[in-house]
Amino acid sequence: MIFKTSTLLSHHKTVAHRFTSRIGGYSQEPYYSNNLAFHVGDKAEDVIKNHDILANQLGYERQKLVHMRQVHSDLVLVVDAHSDNFKNPPECDALVTDLPNTPLMVMVADCTPVLFFEPQSKIIAVAHAGRKGALSEIVPKTIETMVSRFHAKKESIQVILGPSIHSCCYEIDEDIALEVSESGYRDALRIEGERHFLNINTIIRQQLKKLELPQKNIEDLNICNACHNKTFFSYRADAKTTGRCAGVIMIKP
Ligand SMILES: [Zn+2]
Repeated sequence: MIFKTSTLLSHHKTVAHRFTSRIGGYSQEPYYSNNLAFHVGDKAEDVIKNHDILANQLGYERQKLVHMRQVHSDLVLVVDAHSDNFKNPPECDALVTDLPNTPLMVMVADCTPVLFFEPQSKIIAVAHAGRKGALSEIVPKTIETMVSRFHAKKESIQVILGPSIHSCCYEIDEDIALEVSESGYRDALRIEGERHFLNINTIIRQQLKKLELPQKNIEDLNICNACHNKTFFSYRADAKTTGRCAGVIMIKP
């Protein structure tokens, strides 16, 4: 399996993490080949085999994984019990925990997968940030939950933005561009004649700056999944029917 890792997170021996690609799994077209989502129409037995590859690589039992039924919301869930979360994922768009050996997963096919780690208190989180989630501040709300529920030190929180669609490939309608602009994120727009393009990561970085997170704690892998569609699934580049890549992070047992 080909995957991407964060330089910041790789410095910490207490956590394991990956951003997966579409390469090296069992699924057939149009989910070829490392699709991790059950809800997209792929064969469940292939998806489970793909999950097992990742679980083996990171050293966890597949059943321990907590993923989400993502709904483009601003709902942040604290994971404190994990009996059947693999079979029945909770409906939300961010997860936070201090439990070791409890991998958290966010799935994407254009939206930004965000991983969080606070090394002093050993708190981890994941968030799914598309346009709606980013505008409804899913990333600041995840950080607020890490701080309020687990006393994470805000200035120590590391935030990693994984492969996602960038303004080279993410064209939006004019009314959405207006909404983005009126929300205070004009810098996230790229205008080309009559056409409007959006960079979600610019919105997230602007929110992190407002929260006064140190710049050195923020890492953007700076990969456009749609430009690199042979390596990553893309909802837009694959004409909607496609698989999902994932960001996963776990406090080691
Ligand atoms: Zn692109």
